[in-house]
Amino acid sequence: MAVSEDIRALVDYACDCGLIGFEDRVWAYNAVLEAVGATGPEPGEDWVLNETYAFPCMTAAMAGVDDMAGERPTTSDEEDFSAATFDLEGTLARLAEAAVAAGVAEDTASGRDRAAMRVMGLIMPRPSEVVAIFEDALRCAGPHEATDWFYKMCCDAGYVRRAAIARNIAWTTSTRWGDLEITINRSKPEKDPRDIAAAGAAKPTGEKYPACQLCIENEGYPGRSAASAAGDHPARQNLRIVPIELGGERWGLQYSPYAYFNEHCIAMSAHHRKMHIDADALGCLLDFVDLLPRYFIGSNADLPIVGGSILSHDHFQGGAHVFPMMGAREAATFEMGAFPGVSGAVLEWPLSVLRLRGTDRDEVLAAAVHVVDAWRSYSDESVGVRAHDADGTPHNTVTPVVRREGDGYEVYLALRCNVTSEANPLGDFHPHAEWHHIKKENIGLIEVMGLAILPPRLVGELAAVRGHLLAGELDALEGDPLTASHAAWAREVSEAHPELSEDNAEDVIRDEVGRVFGHVLEDAGVFKWDAEGRAAQARFIATL
Ligand SMILES: [Zn+2]
Repeated sequence: MAVSEDIRALVDYACDCGLIGFEDRVWAYNAVLEAVGATGPEPGEDWVLNETYAFPCMTAAMAGVDDMAGERPTTSDEEDFSAATFDLEGTLARLAEAAVAAGVAEDTASGRDRAAMRVMGLIMPRPSEVVAIFEDALRCAGPHEATDWFYKMCCDAGYVRRAAIARNIAWTTSTRWGDLEITINRSKPEKDPRDIAAAGAAKPTGEKYPACQLCIENEGYPGRSAASAAGDHPARQNLRIVPIELGGERWGLQYSPYAYFNEHCIAMSAHHRKMHIDADALGCLLDFVDLLPRYFIGSNADLPIVGGSILSHDHFQGGAHVFPMMGAREAATFEMGAFPGVSGAVLEWPLSVLRLRGTDRDEVLAAAVHVVDAWRSYSDESVGVRAHDADGTPHNTVTPVVRREGDGYEVYLALRCNVTSEANPLGDFHPHAEWHHIKKENIGLIEVMGLAILPPRLVGELAAVRGHLLAGELDALEGDPLTASHAAWAREVSEAHPELSEDNAEDVIRDEVGRVFGHVLEDAGVFKWDAEGRAAQARFIATL
């Protein structure tokens, strides 16, 4: 397809989605031409004067909330064009290829991505326009409509990578903890060997801008090649951040490009500062659900091993998903004398999760802070929980999640401890070595709630396991590099499933992977589900 045709289609798509207005079309065509290193050809008079796009999409969205999607009227002689079926990914890939050919983009996967994001940044509203529409919608129509509009805009602008997310593999597995959700994450692009080579050749410098991928200074950032002195950094020309106020401070709200669940959003402090789980953070979580009550919000823990991958920037993650943990049964209930309006429950969940419920915001916050403070300093050597080392190094922290439930608040506090030992050098309450063939990474916020994010290597490895089991080649498991790490587990699967056949092998293996995830979560629980663990759990509750 000719470059001109792709740019016209892309600009029509942007107009159709309400990312730009009718009067922007020629300007946008020329801006994209420049971005891909071209100065022509002309778009054609028919296209320039095509009045079917003369619908002021953005202005309509700004003026009212009846038509947040900015849908335009259709005419009978209009060509068959729809934003819903438009191949955004394919069109951007061809335009990026044109940019490489013209010498204005680096000939690597990340170079092509930067060119594609540069193009998208040109055909979408500026941050001030996005904020104006969002705040107008929030005021006039409410948080549901405001986030619906913002999320759709981020998807349409290609920031949320819907096509890539669709490549993820997902299923649920029934376990004693309920239905756990499993995803094999295939949305993040594989590293281009040329990018890896360039990163190896680059000389790192002290300068780092933006300081991290969560800083608000990423909005509009052009991205960097792995060959650059400061190292690679993703292109963010099409990132838009809406300012929100949490804890009396400025924070930003954005969506996650590689979402793990519906409307996966991120709230980031405007300051590049470390994660901290304390009264301030819990207050911010409550502020968030007061502002956007349809979303849950949670934070990774603030210590290594039990935290998420980025501890260096204060941030939360939220969204519109209801996680398995939120449907867990109550194993026990408890009350705390100082907080009569708050009801506590121990959830029947592999991790040690306490749920607090109440309608008085201040009381719920005070009760949550009380539990976190109590846990920070709590040791029980009989179950391996140690609050501090002799030198003061802290081990205990919490993974908190907050959501609205009717008029009230629900606070989930997953008790975490990052002690290590000779037996478990990666962490006593971390996935144990026997499960590392499936999951070795930290158990962060999303997994705490029962959604597994498994590495893409499993696609090929599990297919190879399946092949060997169906062929009855158990002896081949150790020798095959794809299945060697799974060999012991695969033998158990084979033994447990004499009925294994071509028809059911996929389901059987997925089920067994789901069960492994259940065990991984059990490893992360500080109070186990045996008599000793239950007694220890009760002792902690009694201190509250
Ligand atoms: Zn940062």
